[in-house]
Amino acid sequence: MIAPDLRSGVELLGGMIASASTIVPFTGAGISTECGIPDFRSPGGLWTRNRPIPFDEFVASRDARDESWRRRFAMEPTFAAARPGRGHRALASLYRAGKVPAIITQNIDNLHQASGFAPDHVVELHGNTTYARCIGCGQAYDLSWVRQRFDDDCAAPDCTVCDEPVKTATISFGQAMPQEAMKRATELSQHCDLFLAIGSSLVVWPAAGFPLMAKNCGARLVIINREPTDQDDLADLVIRYDIGETLGPFVGN
Ligand SMILES: [Zn+2]
Repeated sequence: MIAPDLRSGVELLGGMIASASTIVPFTGAGISTECGIPDFRSPGGLWTRNRPIPFDEFVASRDARDESWRRRFAMEPTFAAARPGRGHRALASLYRAGKVPAIITQNIDNLHQASGFAPDHVVELHGNTTYARCIGCGQAYDLSWVRQRFDDDCAAPDCTVCDEPVKTATISFGQAMPQEAMKRATELSQHCDLFLAIGSSLVVWPAAGFPLMAKNCGARLVIINREPTDQDDLADLVIRYDIGETLGPFVGN
């Protein structure tokens, strides 16, 4: 059903949370917009103005790598200033209460970790933009190291271990999905009794398959998103209100 108003949506959600034993949240860009992180895919968003650089282009072209890093550095004030919002804090509160074993996210902003989730309990389908990795050997690098090298050499740095390119630890267009994260997200979706899809338009696959998978495995499905999604018909509850307003009442200590 679609919640007729915010208050009844919050009440129905509260009842479902209270009666659930294992809750798996799945989050998309909508949970972070109140934290100042833009939704890159939205109309007028960054990706409609700046074509994303596909993975094979990043690997093949030094110019593409330089441009990719210039764009990332331009976003750094935004990412560095972002703090967890009400949605993040509410989910962290359920996590601390022991009802949420781990969270699945399409976001790359590290805000679930910042809200109190152990890094091991954040399953990142699209990686993380707050640090970098060598695309060859996987060596991790701080962004400050990349920035320093970029400023010194006027070029994107390569790995000091294996000389392959260093990229933000995100999954780019055309890059393979992270196997371990996909496996864990599958297990979580199959073994919960309440699945909360929050702030995702559920159009980016394979990520959008997890709410469906959870529902097919017997979980109740709640979709919280400002806009309608293709999976609303499957959901036990749809809440089309602001995420902060909806989850704010569940922020505990
Ligand atoms: Zn390397």
